[in-house]
Amino acid sequence: MGLFSFFKSRRRRKILERGLFDDGAWEWALEQHPILARLAEDEIRRLKGLAEIFAAEKEFVPERGIVIEPDMILSISVQAVLPVLALGLEWLDDFRTIFVAPRSVRRERKRRFGPAIEEYTETVAGEVDYLGPITLSWRDVEASGWGDGFNVVIHEIAHKLDLSNRAMDGCPFLGDDLDPARWKRVFSAAYGETVRRLESGLGTYINSYAAESPAEFFAVACEEFFERPAVLRRHFPEVYGELKAFLKQDPLRKGTTDDTDRNGLHE
Ligand SMILES: [Zn+2]
Repeated sequence: MGLFSFFKSRRRRKILERGLFDDGAWEWALEQHPILARLAEDEIRRLKGLAEIFAAEKEFVPERGIVIEPDMILSISVQAVLPVLALGLEWLDDFRTIFVAPRSVRRERKRRFGPAIEEYTETVAGEVDYLGPITLSWRDVEASGWGDGFNVVIHEIAHKLDLSNRAMDGCPFLGDDLDPARWKRVFSAAYGETVRRLESGLGTYINSYAAESPAEFFAVACEEFFERPAVLRRHFPEVYGELKAFLKQDPLRKGTTDDTDRNGLHE
């Protein structure tokens, strides 16, 4: 262990001893994020510790006049560390700043269209910079964690995990436990089916934004994995299996059947 890790772990121990979130705040967090009810007791304890370290180590920067309250930091932190609950916080080490905007952010973009460069405006609930900050719309954070399939925090964190092998292509760094060829086969089949269903007007099984690109499919699949795991497993069982192996978590372990496909298909 290097000197840096020694100080880092000592600092982290102090954060945990201090207990950043008191009982009342933590109870609020569990109530406001029903997706956490799928976790076992030891996982909840680990989640709290990771969220405390995350909240203490990251810098939350207000955008466009928003005032950042402690419960906002708690809500973002608890959802941000959920995907890395078993993987570890080092997966989120490449950024420190989280910009929090009151609502969706308008961004000027450019894209190539044949020989021409087209400029357009996009409204986004969140975004990530490669090796840089995350931006989140608070209104969209508030709409996340309820078990209805939408989660902007998990979506952006999924992009960060995806970037672990330097490319935002829907395939993160898989280590030795998973087979990249299998991962690509499973995900490109599910992505292809989603695109086909959208184009033929059949409606998609998960949020149709997944049809945007393989990277967006992966991010939306991660949202569904934690928000509506039964829906994801029913329609894309192999995607569910790969995510379970990669994230080392199984939201359906307790056999939850609470999230039936209420919303039906996404137009
Ligand atoms: Zn995205």
